[in-house]
Amino acid sequence: MAKYVFGVDIGGTTVKIGLFTAEGTMVDKWEITTRTDEGGKYILGDIAASIEDKLAEKQIDKSEVKGIGMGVPGPVKADGTVLRCVNLGWGIFNAADELSKIIGLPVKVGNDANMAALGEMWQGGGKGFSNIVMVTLGTGVGGGIVLDGKIVKGTHGAAGEIGHMSVVYDETATCNCGKKGCLEQVASATGIVKEAKKFLAADDTPSTLRNIDGFTAKDVFDEAKKGDDISLKTVNRLGEYLGIALGHIACVIDPDVFIIGGGVSKAGDFLIDTIEKYYVEKTYHQCRKTPIKLATLGNSAGIYGAAKLVISE
Ligand code: ZN
Repeated sequence: MAKYVFGVDIGGTTVKIGLFTAEGTMVDKWEITTRTDEGGKYILGDIAASIEDKLAEKQIDKSEVKGIGMGVPGPVKADGTVLRCVNLGWGIFNAADELSKIIGLPVKVGNDANMAALGEMWQGGGKGFSNIVMVTLGTGVGGGIVLDGKIVKGTHGAAGEIGHMSVVYDETATCNCGKKGCLEQVASATGIVKEAKKFLAADDTPSTLRNIDGFTAKDVFDEAKKGDDISLKTVNRLGEYLGIALGHIACVIDPDVFIIGGGVSKAGDFLIDTIEKYYVEKTYHQCRKTPIKLATLGNSAGIYGAAKLVISE
């Protein structure tokens, strides 16, 4: 009887690995370096070796392991084929089959943002719900949608690309994706700094941000909490656009809960309250009470979700 599962989250610099019981308790968690040289050809071998070491250390037999779930930073097809992971140097190949061949255990692969959403639904901010939308506010804006407990992947693997919803109609700058006006351009950590700089350049309004060299998104939130006008304007702007985006999403899929994660979410209830203020105005009346909650698993969400992927399928 399989008692354990592994959850793996491959990032551009580190691979996070977790050992879980089938009930969802984390037994151990560790990291190895992601070797991206030579087209990332060592990555899967390194993961297999690290998992073999852990099995030996914990005296767990492979017959007790249900399988390995793995999140990768890029689009993934249902059969485990990764389409292109630029950060890892990977081209197109079946990562699930490849790792399974090396280690002799079943392997499932998914996109990392989707894994984080699944993890938060299983053991995080969305625990107890089966329809959740997660938005990750980091360097970019990512997203993941879980409906009836299953990840929505979409025809092109692009479901949940919430960061690239067009919401800012008067945006003149171009997003990393090539469009103009994406949510990511105002609601990512980079976007927040850029927006604050625009407000600062517009006139001579006094602002404590002017005294902080190379200020970050965190500084903008900290100063907003102290009442700085420009910082408050910036936070309100991202709250408004997030409110619009979540309002649209609610009209389409009416989820149980929205989960907000990523580095920017460390701003806490102040961020949630600002989003909610606009969300309530922008969505359909029946969705106005849908809770918007903070993610709780931090950067472990991906390994929880990857483990869950093995358990539920
Ligand atoms: Zn975009």
